[in-house]
Amino acid sequence: MVLQDLGRRINSAVSDLTRSATLDEKAFDNMIKEICSALLEADVNVKLVGTLRKSIKQSVNFKELPAGVNKKRIIQKAVFDELVKLVDPHAEPFKPKKGRANVIMFVGLQGSGKTTTCTKLARWYQTRGFKACLVCADTFRAGAFDQLKQNATKAKIPYYGSLTQTDPVIVARDGVEKFKKERFEIIIVDTSGRHRQEQELFDEMVQIQGAVKPDQTIMVLDSSIGQQAEAQSKAFKASADFGAIIITKTDGNASGGGAISAVAATHTPIVFIGTGEHMLDLERFAPQAFISKLLGMGDMQGLVDHVQSLKLDHKDTMKHIAEGVFTVRDLRDQLSNIMKMGPLSKMAGMVPGLSQMMGSMDDEEGSMKLRRMIYICDSMTIKELDSDGKVFVEQPTRITRVAHGSGTSVREVEDLLSQHRMMAHMAKKMKGNMANMQRAQGAM
Ligand code: GDP
Repeated sequence: MVLQDLGRRINSAVSDLTRSATLDEKAFDNMIKEICSALLEADVNVKLVGTLRKSIKQSVNFKELPAGVNKKRIIQKAVFDELVKLVDPHAEPFKPKKGRANVIMFVGLQGSGKTTTCTKLARWYQTRGFKACLVCADTFRAGAFDQLKQNATKAKIPYYGSLTQTDPVIVARDGVEKFKKERFEIIIVDTSGRHRQEQELFDEMVQIQGAVKPDQTIMVLDSSIGQQAEAQSKAFKASADFGAIIITKTDGNASGGGAISAVAATHTPIVFIGTGEHMLDLERFAPQAFISKLLGMGDMQGLVDHVQSLKLDHKDTMKHIAEGVFTVRDLRDQLSNIMKMGPLSKMAGMVPGLSQMMGSMDDEEGSMKLRRMIYICDSMTIKELDSDGKVFVEQPTRITRVAHGSGTSVREVEDLLSQHRMMAHMAKKMKGNMANMQRAQGAM
């Protein structure tokens, strides 16, 4: 089961329960059962699912809930918190520092997406003001250096490698030394993989680690490996003690739950996820945001982060969110930014409620829907656009007028306004966090 489907199933299990008239223990148990079977189908480790089942039951403690409390809120929160725990290793990932050399070494099996991800990560840091470069220490696979060269050239990232030196330890050491002298701040070392875990590979990784002394070792895990993820990550951890995980190919048909289980097995944070073959298809991973997105509740932080990296027009929105405000115009600007950001299916998850609204639409249908939402905004008056949306509640005839003017239906305008309400609510909650967030991003 693909992660998106997992999110939809969990979400509908919770909504079915919270919408039902009889919110009794039997219905609650059924909800837990449905969530657990969805997680198991998505390849999440059976032990973890068992723990999650117990924790949700304990934290809600249905029998002892006093009368009058908002059971729905308590249940929703418990499910959310327990899912976050599932992907939260409670370990802080390494944060590179500016003005010094940060060596990051990649490990993983062949085909997991290491070389591609090295370039994505170098570019990610480069767009955030770091002087980044790549070292190809994969002398095992013919063509590995050419591949890295091509990717690096496209992304305009300096690289180092050798077509004649066959000892990966020497290449890695020489490359890192050269770039350190040239005052690079992010030096990413790509190492070779093998088709399967074997001693030779682990020995080589340990030797390279000894030679380049990485500040961080990242293991790349292909999300499609399912249940093997746990064993694989444990085997890597035992020799090349990595401090972070990147899960690749989360855009594919793989279930991904196995890779998530690797977090718990190794107590290691996932720092990024690969969401496609393109250079920009790398997203920062944060447990809360991931679960929020999985459940269709959006990822405002991810959205802001993405908008920032693309250097799109977002100044006013950022300022507004920092003040806890989110106008209808902010929604319109973000919708039009989303259309500039590439495949919609990827972006929609970041906007609260939008992925549910898009349902099973493909990218073309989805972008038509977005365009209609923009038409709706464009039929509003300046006062309406810059408002917090309450004018439509006070004077509902405005909704009919906008629907007529934009060639859409009253229902579509109402949907857009409820979308806006949800985002405005989140902006209010984010007030104050924004400055911290921007500071944190500056430090990344
Ligand atoms: P390596 O052997 O570990 O260095 O793997 P590569 O970087 O050569 O990647 C193997 C294949 O996976 C290539 O075709 C990549 O384009 C593809 N790939 C890597 N990351 C992703 C991802 O996040 N999504 C998708 N769809 N493909 C990916």
